[in-house]
Amino acid sequence: MQPKSLLDPIQFLSGVGPKRAEAFNSIGIKNIENLLFYFPSKYLDRRNILTIVKVMQHVINGYEGEVTVVAKITDIELINYYKKQIFKVRFSDSTGNFECVWFKGIKYFKTLFNKGEHYAISGKPVTTKYGNLQFTHPDFDKFSDDESNDFINTGKIIPYYSIPQSLKSKNLGDIGLRKIIYKAITEYSGLLSETLPKNLIEKNNILDIINSVKNIHFPESNELLAEAKNRFKYEELFYIETLVALRKHNYLTKAKGIKFQIHSDVIKKFLDSLTFELTNDQLKVLSEIKTDMINPKPMNRLLQGDVGSGKTIVSLISILIAVSNNYQAVIMAPTEILADQHYQTIAKFLKDFNFNIDLLIGGTKKSEKNAIKEKIQNGECNIIIGTHALIEEDVDFAKLGFVVIDEQHRFGVAHRGKLISKGITPDVLIMTATPIPRTLTMTLYGDLDLSIIKEMPKNRIPIKTALRGESSLEDIYKFIIDKHKENYQAFIVFPLVEESEKLDLKAAEVYYEELKNSSLNTLKIGLLHGRMNWKEKDETMQSFKNKKFDVLISTTVIEVGIDIPDANIIVINNAERFGLSQLHQLRGRVGRGSDQAFCILVTKDELAAKTRNFNYDFQYLSKTQIDFHKSKIRLNAMVKHTSGFELSEVDLKLRGPGDIFGKMQSGFPNLIFADLTTDQEILINAKQDAFQIIEDDKNLKSKENYMIKNKLNNYYKENLKYSTVG
Ligand code: ADP
Ligand code: MG
Repeated sequence: MQPKSLLDPIQFLSGVGPKRAEAFNSIGIKNIENLLFYFPSKYLDRRNILTIVKVMQHVINGYEGEVTVVAKITDIELINYYKKQIFKVRFSDSTGNFECVWFKGIKYFKTLFNKGEHYAISGKPVTTKYGNLQFTHPDFDKFSDDESNDFINTGKIIPYYSIPQSLKSKNLGDIGLRKIIYKAITEYSGLLSETLPKNLIEKNNILDIINSVKNIHFPESNELLAEAKNRFKYEELFYIETLVALRKHNYLTKAKGIKFQIHSDVIKKFLDSLTFELTNDQLKVLSEIKTDMINPKPMNRLLQGDVGSGKTIVSLISILIAVSNNYQAVIMAPTEILADQHYQTIAKFLKDFNFNIDLLIGGTKKSEKNAIKEKIQNGECNIIIGTHALIEEDVDFAKLGFVVIDEQHRFGVAHRGKLISKGITPDVLIMTATPIPRTLTMTLYGDLDLSIIKEMPKNRIPIKTALRGESSLEDIYKFIIDKHKENYQAFIVFPLVEESEKLDLKAAEVYYEELKNSSLNTLKIGLLHGRMNWKEKDETMQSFKNKKFDVLISTTVIEVGIDIPDANIIVINNAERFGLSQLHQLRGRVGRGSDQAFCILVTKDELAAKTRNFNYDFQYLSKTQIDFHKSKIRLNAMVKHTSGFELSEVDLKLRGPGDIFGKMQSGFPNLIFADLTTDQEILINAKQDAFQIIEDDKNLKSKENYMIKNKLNNYYKENLKYSTVG
């Protein structure tokens, strides 16, 4: 007989067979190892289990919480009560009995329960007027007979697995799967080899792999279960951070970067030309950037700052350093309209300097494009502004020394990687206005050095945000007309009604007509929508800036980065449909000067009223409740917080890290075990350990680290693309 191996197909495990093996294969479980790593989704702990007599005492004493009882079905009854049906199942244990009732889904429950079966029933019990203990629509989990005896007698913690349809259809449920996995563990778990280096296991007091796998399935105690869970969380974060460390290391050891010199006269001339003083945070960040730039190590820095905190000026001064060293500098923006705005702003700021500035975007005419590319190639052009097409197209730079990436959350790790793999080593400054929680920054941008602008320019007054019902629209229009006398302009935003652009255009036009027929008709109204090409959009924005319109109706195309100093009112219709970061970005379109700005969130009257009366504390809300109330929570948060960082914490609680994580960065492994909202401490440890290991042994050559290299190659191959291990 062949020796056993973790790679053995699961078909030959008792209880599996060819048909079930196929079903397992279809959900990615092919061999024993896969099965051992199919972890339970929840557990039932004997400590929370009460006998029936105990539950009865609780209820009589007025306890109203949830309880769990394990009991056997003694009787099943379908009662016709006037026109309704009630489905009743009676249970008992050695201390007493109770009943469970269902009013809905009776057809299904009728087929489910059988006399003599054992169940764990969880719910809030009451006593009926006949003095019976009763649960209405409780949660329940089935046990096999021997399991239930075993369970009750020995006090085990029972695992529950999520059972995909393909397994159910092969008659495999919880009980069956538990048996199969139990078998696999007894026969094979001894073959598992450790995937973390010994010194880390010792240092962090981590449970070894064999005991972790055993205890994650069949915990000997709650303590061991917690240790096993922590191990898998740590391991997952450790490997992700190892990838991050490798990426950082790879960047640093690439060919030498540029050692810039600071020409103070140029910077002074620029600062003197500004009509405002830089904030302390802007100055602090600038000095961090300068330190990087005069160092020959390539800079790779993330600049985080809320919308309107003045990141552009900071990047511009850095660019000035680069171009006064005779290098070229480039700004990549996520959209053409934003690239164009940067172009206009920078051209204006640098009008007294002798630098050639060009805009290169998809919409540029072909002949013009070729001329610009030519100028980029022969070094005539000093500052190039464009979309990321710039990096991907056949653009050759004469002497590219500095790269600014604006609104980084729109680009992925892969984009950065591309830049690096092009073999250029410019200094790179990445700017983001999407404030993300610290734990996410540490993970997603762990390979970057971090600079933060927290302080807003001094002249800013916090934006006033209000929530109104739709019946207040006429009042809102009156407010806009009033404020117009003080030179205010207004954005009125409404969400995409349909996915289709055609319908979107239609809705925009209908809305535009509607407003023209409202009391707003005394003002000049413009329209901006997603169907316009960038030139039309740009013209509309310019007209708005030049006061050809007082009010601009818009879909969400104005979301990113547009700067119109006198537009100080933004009305957001159907505000409940937007995500929190989107709302914050939209609000950031106003309040960019020294006047009081207003953001008015409009929603249905009923929701507006409910939201105003909705007081909550996350601590006391379950996940389901959070989900149910999420539009109220979002709208409330917008009224309450002006800081993007605070909103990002709320967003994290609403959406969960997985969602944010997934959307933000393609090319990152998904988190399965760790939760970045609760596992910060583990994350910090894992990161320190990973960075230390890569610092000491960058190619993972040492014997102790060999397993790391192995696991990276086996499980994270895709993510290793931009590193030197492989
Ligand atoms: P963001 O960080 O969103 O990119 P910007 O750089 O576009 O912000 O700055 C927003 C506005 O604030 C611009 O009009 C800019 O000129 C102005 N600004 C930048 N820094 C200051 C400052 N220190 N004091 C006053 N206004 C400033
Ligand atoms: Mg900006």
